[in-house]
Amino acid sequence: MPVIPIPNYAAEVIHALEHMGFSAYVVGGCVRDSLLNQKPADWDVCTDATPEEMLLVFRKWTVFKTGLKHGTITVRSHGRNVEVTTFRSDGAYSDNRHPDAVHFVSRIQDDLSRRDFTINAMAYNDREGLVDAFGGRQDLDNHILRCVGEPDVRFREDALRILRALRFAARFKFGIETETAYSIRHNRLLLENISAERIFKELQGILTASGAGDMLTAFPEVFTVILPELTGLAGSQNARGIDRWVYTVRAVQAAPVESFPNRLAMLMLLLEPAAVRSALTRLKSDNATARFVITLLEHLSLPLPASRPEMRRLIGSASREMVQHIINAHGMIDLLDHRSPSATRSASMLLTEVLESPPAYKVRDLAIGGSDLMERGSAQGPRVGQILEQLLREVQDETLPNTRTALLARASDLTHP
Ligand code: ATP
Ligand code: MG
Repeated sequence: MPVIPIPNYAAEVIHALEHMGFSAYVVGGCVRDSLLNQKPADWDVCTDATPEEMLLVFRKWTVFKTGLKHGTITVRSHGRNVEVTTFRSDGAYSDNRHPDAVHFVSRIQDDLSRRDFTINAMAYNDREGLVDAFGGRQDLDNHILRCVGEPDVRFREDALRILRALRFAARFKFGIETETAYSIRHNRLLLENISAERIFKELQGILTASGAGDMLTAFPEVFTVILPELTGLAGSQNARGIDRWVYTVRAVQAAPVESFPNRLAMLMLLLEPAAVRSALTRLKSDNATARFVITLLEHLSLPLPASRPEMRRLIGSASREMVQHIINAHGMIDLLDHRSPSATRSASMLLTEVLESPPAYKVRDLAIGGSDLMERGSAQGPRVGQILEQLLREVQDETLPNTRTALLARASDLTHP
């Protein structure tokens, strides 16, 4: 029997329930991660105490009634949050996502049977050890992701589980059991009933997992349901005779694994700008991610800066972090296309060089400002901005030093030619 070291703050929650005669276990992700020797993100507890009984047990603790209707409260323990949920079985699902009603039950086995995958359907406490009603431990050992119960039934109940399956398999680099995999493909259109926000969140989890490429390769038809713009890539070839989906997957894998914006951009590498925009809007992407993806792809279709002035202008229009991402992505594509990396290398050196010299990216980097021009009567209104822009261009071109004297003299030349 495995022994799972439950951190004190969660163990005390369990003991408080046991002390009042209830049974309680840590359950789900924390049990799975512990058995994999990984550090759980959080520790969830389940119990046969009803919601009212839980509120009594924890009446002297700080409690948030987060999901009381569904039997969940959050208990503050040693400065940490522990979610405590009454054993429950879910009623019918008529919308492919939410149970119409939840029923509280008294047996842990019945609670475990509503959970999505065998590796997520284990519970543990110090008295009884591991409760593993569906062979989760064996599946963990064999690196297999498998539904609890009939896959078709489980995916029809809640289609989000289709993406959860890909996310967990990608994260742990597990294979998906044959019947579960078949059912994922068979039920993929049910994802159309799932909200964009949930889909976007799961897509993030899948793309930033080490096994993302395996899932993209194995389930292209699932990804075209959530991103119809990708339809037609699989089965069509680029100029070098490479399947466009294969190429896309390679690009995703080459992007830094922890960076969702970079990986999402690579997933959309072969799409037209209009398709990228409409996909990001439909998926309700947050603005920062959307802006990143659009900017990166836009600059990937342009040549990299080849001189210091061009590099300064690029930093002025994107940010320096973005410029670094643009250069990195160009480097990746060089490799994918077996193209000489020399332009990318020079751009990289230019960036270092420019960043080491005094900044001249935006008008605010100039040694004078608009008020200097107005005070001297050199210019008024929109002309002020135009002159500053001209001065910036010349400083970036290194034909004008960025000093007050030089800038004021040049400004006066520009106003009184
Ligand atoms: P993570 O580390 O990603 O949080 P997790 O296993 O804790 O993984 P959660 O989404 O936090 O995943 O859910 C906690 C547990 O609740 C799961 O382990 C699983 O047992 C159950 N669960 C969550 N979502 C579903 C679902 N859609 N269908 C069935 N069971 C679910
Ligand atoms: Mg969790």
